[in-house]
Amino acid sequence: MTEEKENKKTPVPSKMMQHYLTIKQEYPDCVVFYRLGDFYELFFEDAVKMSSVLDLTLTGKQCGLDERAPMCGVPYHAVDIYLKKAVSAGYKVAVCEQLTEPSANSRELVERGVVKVVTAGTITDDNSIEAKKNNYLVAIYFDSDTYALSWVDITTGEFYTKTYKNSISEVIDELYRISPAEILADSKAYSKLSQKTVFLSGVFPKINAYRDSEFNYNIAYKVLTEHFKVKNLYSFNIEGSLSVCSSGALLTYLSETQMHAISNVNKIEVKKGDEFLELDLTAVKNLELISALRDGKRYGSLLYVLDKTKTSMGARLLTNWILYPLKDKEKIEERLNAVEVLFTDNKIREGLSEIFGEIRDVLRLTGKISNNNMTPVDCRALCNSLSMLPNLKFMLSGVKDSKISKLNAKISDFKSLHNYLDSAIEDKPPLIIKDGAYIKKGFSAELDELREIKSDSAKFIDEFQERERNSTGIKNLKVAYNRVFGYYIEVTNSYKEYVPYHYIRKQTLTGAERYYTEELKEFEDKILNATEKANALEKHLYDEVLSVLLKNVSSLKETAESIAELDVLLSFATVSKAYNYVKPEISTDGEISIKEGRHPVVEKLSKEDFVSNNALLNSGEDNFLIITGPNMAGKSTYMRQVALITLMAHIGCFVPAKYAKITLTDKIFTRIGASDNLVFDQSTFMVEMNEVASILRNATKDSLIILDEIGRGTSTYDGLSIAWSVVEYILNNIGAKTLFATHYHELTELEDRFSGVKNYKVTVKELSDSVVFLRKIVRGGANRSFGIEVAALAGVPKFVTDRAKEILKALEKRGVSKKVEKDTENTEKLTSVEKIIKDLNTDELTPLKAFNVLIDLKEKVDKL
Ligand code: ADP
Repeated sequence: MTEEKENKKTPVPSKMMQHYLTIKQEYPDCVVFYRLGDFYELFFEDAVKMSSVLDLTLTGKQCGLDERAPMCGVPYHAVDIYLKKAVSAGYKVAVCEQLTEPSANSRELVERGVVKVVTAGTITDDNSIEAKKNNYLVAIYFDSDTYALSWVDITTGEFYTKTYKNSISEVIDELYRISPAEILADSKAYSKLSQKTVFLSGVFPKINAYRDSEFNYNIAYKVLTEHFKVKNLYSFNIEGSLSVCSSGALLTYLSETQMHAISNVNKIEVKKGDEFLELDLTAVKNLELISALRDGKRYGSLLYVLDKTKTSMGARLLTNWILYPLKDKEKIEERLNAVEVLFTDNKIREGLSEIFGEIRDVLRLTGKISNNNMTPVDCRALCNSLSMLPNLKFMLSGVKDSKISKLNAKISDFKSLHNYLDSAIEDKPPLIIKDGAYIKKGFSAELDELREIKSDSAKFIDEFQERERNSTGIKNLKVAYNRVFGYYIEVTNSYKEYVPYHYIRKQTLTGAERYYTEELKEFEDKILNATEKANALEKHLYDEVLSVLLKNVSSLKETAESIAELDVLLSFATVSKAYNYVKPEISTDGEISIKEGRHPVVEKLSKEDFVSNNALLNSGEDNFLIITGPNMAGKSTYMRQVALITLMAHIGCFVPAKYAKITLTDKIFTRIGASDNLVFDQSTFMVEMNEVASILRNATKDSLIILDEIGRGTSTYDGLSIAWSVVEYILNNIGAKTLFATHYHELTELEDRFSGVKNYKVTVKELSDSVVFLRKIVRGGANRSFGIEVAALAGVPKFVTDRAKEILKALEKRGVSKKVEKDTENTEKLTSVEKIIKDLNTDELTPLKAFNVLIDLKEKVDKL
């Protein structure tokens, strides 16, 4: 032992380990997945960290080091699952592949190199991304007082940008709509945003700082012009804009992680604020547009009800349309007219539905072509989808609608590409491609020949054996194959002397000798080569197919985008037909008029029959509706229904009503319920006031505001006063169409004070000690809250509700309840006698004055 120790030299890391260490040095911020044979191995800190993140057994490897390097590994065929797990936990993974085949007889080190860096925003594997949701990578840049945001989904090629002047909240609203998988920022944007609670609380992924130099205007400009192969950026409308900085940085990040050109990212679109009806984070959440408030799931959202799309690309576009409603009358009407045609023509609707059912996510397939992960199975899916196009085009050509014709014009029929793919790729290609067999017979004569050699080999061996038996007279001569020695002729020792001279000895067994001949050797070479050659040739042919596809990416993308749009229009028509929606009239007269409107989601999901209601809102007499009524009567439902119908009209969908005239609206705001927002780390009241503040700051006369209770999070007096003054402010200074549900019955007085205010109440039928909800909205203010009756309906024990009634009676007698509920009213409605007494300043009262007051009071009382 001692001797060994003394002789020990400084350990030299193995060649493999030396290489690993250089790679790790090049990718210090990544976890390195290092391919060794059938595994990806992780070493040192990566191994320790990831063994717990990925639930792997930690082992060790000597690698010529002083101590064993901590190590863990994942099998190569399951790597995607682990990559997904690692990136969703917020890590970046550098995948280091074997670039050369390890050969059996060479002891040389296999060449290895990093082929891609996988991150949450750039992952492309099907199982790691949701089919119906975009996977966006976002870059944020901040300079002077402006934020620039760019976002890209490399699986679809969608690439957008927008700038925001001096407004963090707009940036956060946008991010909420984008729902990014990964966010990069320059150092200034990073320091402005990263400490905000939304980023710390998990609403968004944590922001990663990215090198400032990549956001530099000139550098970013060069990256963009080179990527898009243009001289300047005027055609994208971002020349001179800070959007250049965030967009360029995004592209640089993509080339660093993907390591190849991303050809489906072939344009960048500026999201112009004034093109869309604005929805802030609160509105998206409260109106349950994409997910339900209760559990964040799709079920129970507007998207859930409207999504009858047949393709995933259609489903993603629908989400986009819901979050970005239009504000341009012409564009909205274009959509509505298209929906109307599909709504009316059952045959076209059903025909399209059938065709779209056969079309796969061509947009993401173009992403796969561009991202180098298109498999033969994907090619077949594309080929089958393309086979539907001539029929689709023919069907669309019979539809008389300008939007549908325009979309049809953008769809190519891809007849020749289809024929090419159909001739190249097997009808049912194998999932595993390393053994070939995905190129169709007839596509390449050379490949067919090689395959024939393989399949003919058995026949050849039989014939050869027969021939040799006859020519040599060795009756039991056997021709066979084994993996070590290849093909051989076996002759038992008893026939030894019959063996002809041209037989060459290969191997000696106890009872027999094995030989080969020139002819057999030639055959063997041909056979063994044929398999290898066939696989190599298939791969080569497949590369050719991919390069043909790559040339078609932009037209395939255009076709896919048009189909997605048609799919959404078809979904609108299908839903509208199935649920009896009506085409809304789009106006600019400032009026929202709904006859027999319904809430699209409650109507679908509630067991109760839905009671329809009218709504009238305008800039004049019916500007501000105050809605009173007991809890659970239907106030929130009614208000949301008006907001949702307005929004649905703006996305070009029919609406759940008998008739609807919807004026163009610039923004929809909501302040709903006591949404205690614990993730934002604020008290209910604080959240409420934030929401109110934002509404008062941003609403205009063309906005629609939904207020469901204001001031409930504080004492009654405070609350009522705030509510009252908010109403006044909206009426006097904004003039936005507003629906306000409240328990403060005092507010109904506003109707007499302001010409734009109208009182409405949700009707209930009073029974002896209960209430029945009638759900009809009628003019007038409610004078009671029916809190105790509603509590009884909710199952509060009778003992408690009976006692509550007693207390209420007692309080009412003592006037306490009146005092609590009707503070403002009290000051107004004091009798003149009471008012005189109240106004008396007894400290200054002289006996004479007191006498005069007394006479005055007596007179007044005598008159009663
Ligand atoms: P409020 O806001 O007055 O407390 P909600 O609007 O929350 O009441 O309504 C309570 C429940 O009543 C809803 O969940 C819904 O199931 C049902 N509801 C509301 N409006 C209607 C309606 N018009 N028709 C049928 N059911 C309704």
